[in-house]
Amino acid sequence: MSDKKVRVRFAPSPTGPLHIGGLRTALFNYLFAKKNEGDFILRIEDTDQNRYVEEAEDYIVRSLKWCGLVPDEGPGFGGNYGPYRQSERKDIYKEYADKLIADGWAYYSFDTPEKLDQLRTEAEQNKQVFAYGIENRGNLNNSLTLSENEVKAKIESGESFVVRFKMPENTNVTEVDVVRGSVTFNTNQLDDKVIFKSGGMPTYHLANVVDDHLMKITQVIRGEEWLPSLPLHVLLYRALGWEDTKPRFAHMPLTLKPQGKGKLSKRDGDKMGFPVFPLAWKDPKTDLISRSYKEDGYFPEAFINMLAMLGWSPGTEQEIFSMDELIKSFSLERIVKAGSRFDPEKAKWYNKHYFQQKPDSELAELFKPLLIEKSISSSDEKILKVVTEIKERCEFVSDIWEQGNYFFEAPTSYDEKSVKKRWKEDTPKKLSSIADLFESIENWSANAIKESFSSFMNEKEWGFGIVMNPLRLCLVGGNIGPDLFVICEILGKEETISRIKNGIEKII
Ligand code: GLU
Repeated sequence: MSDKKVRVRFAPSPTGPLHIGGLRTALFNYLFAKKNEGDFILRIEDTDQNRYVEEAEDYIVRSLKWCGLVPDEGPGFGGNYGPYRQSERKDIYKEYADKLIADGWAYYSFDTPEKLDQLRTEAEQNKQVFAYGIENRGNLNNSLTLSENEVKAKIESGESFVVRFKMPENTNVTEVDVVRGSVTFNTNQLDDKVIFKSGGMPTYHLANVVDDHLMKITQVIRGEEWLPSLPLHVLLYRALGWEDTKPRFAHMPLTLKPQGKGKLSKRDGDKMGFPVFPLAWKDPKTDLISRSYKEDGYFPEAFINMLAMLGWSPGTEQEIFSMDELIKSFSLERIVKAGSRFDPEKAKWYNKHYFQQKPDSELAELFKPLLIEKSISSSDEKILKVVTEIKERCEFVSDIWEQGNYFFEAPTSYDEKSVKKRWKEDTPKKLSSIADLFESIENWSANAIKESFSSFMNEKEWGFGIVMNPLRLCLVGGNIGPDLFVICEILGKEETISRIKNGIEKII
């Protein structure tokens, strides 16, 4: 087993957008593949045509690319084990369904959905749950109860059927899960799952196992919600004679709601005010757009770092990991067993960290489109200076605007509280003389402005606060912002003086 090349797969069903939980599965598969110099495969499990959503596959691929989790093989990525969409592998599965029937591991079942519904309702009335399986398959309409000729006749006449796996009686199925250790299931607790349908489509279970085998998957890393399917999958490997080469399984803990109770659902984001999707998703039925990490301004590296720490622990205090560091440190054994509570605040914390790490010039480039959107033109030099000054207060690129819009737009209103507190009767006169002073400054730099200002103030014997506070009000509209002289420098001489004059005129 250890000398085999590691091959893992991310196998989403295209039923809608990926959410945090799905992407985390992709990430752990990717990290494990890269750590072991193996292959990361994308397989689209689109056998359930009723739940198929056309836009979903493209969304999945774009999301993986945004996160930097580019598959080595998959639809549109090439590879020697394709096709990688199960709907395009339809013909492959029939052969295995037939083999299972021939070997006595599966059987045809002709019970109509109406009949099964009726049995379900009857069971409910008796406070029981109907399950097609060991207890009752001997009384139902299937190839275990019908003669060979009857079965043949039904199939030939086009009667619809499903193929069910024949769960062996009272057998313990034990498997060692990498995360959970040894897990044992007794087959008496399990029903006879449908593995193939008369339309020619397999169900998830058969397609998943057949493909994992044919695609030479060595480790199956997936969410805990699939743990109940494990005994069936193990038995399918046994039934198909592939037990020796079956992959190892690792079932990851659930991602829980921020409150810690219940699985994080796709609807939680819009309900709870944080994104659960990597990219914007427009619901094809309602046209409603759900918010997303990308559009909310998260950096992919922050998003990935946050996801990695959700259910995996490096075993040290280290919280910041680049993708390369994650690859180096990752191991399936360090996946935590308990469900991991999603914390939207931690996601912001990560973004802030990566934001602060970025060079000012890169942040300035990222910020430019926001100005263009607002039809504001500004020099690159000024944008860079603004970023340098206010970066520390920001978590997102959009915060540069929130925190520093006054650098680009003169205030149109003035904070009432500050006006009340700072604006005195003689303030206009004093500010007017400051405007005159500023006119006379030739070298417009924060230091030079400060120097002239200080000697002027000393000469006049005015208290600094008496002038600086109303001056700040004129320039930024409130009691906010970095060093006042730096603000003056960035605004430029003309704009600074014009804002002082404006303030004098408008503030009463
Ligand atoms: N198609 C399944 C899903 O959507 C894959 C589960 C597995 O990885 O086996 O999650």
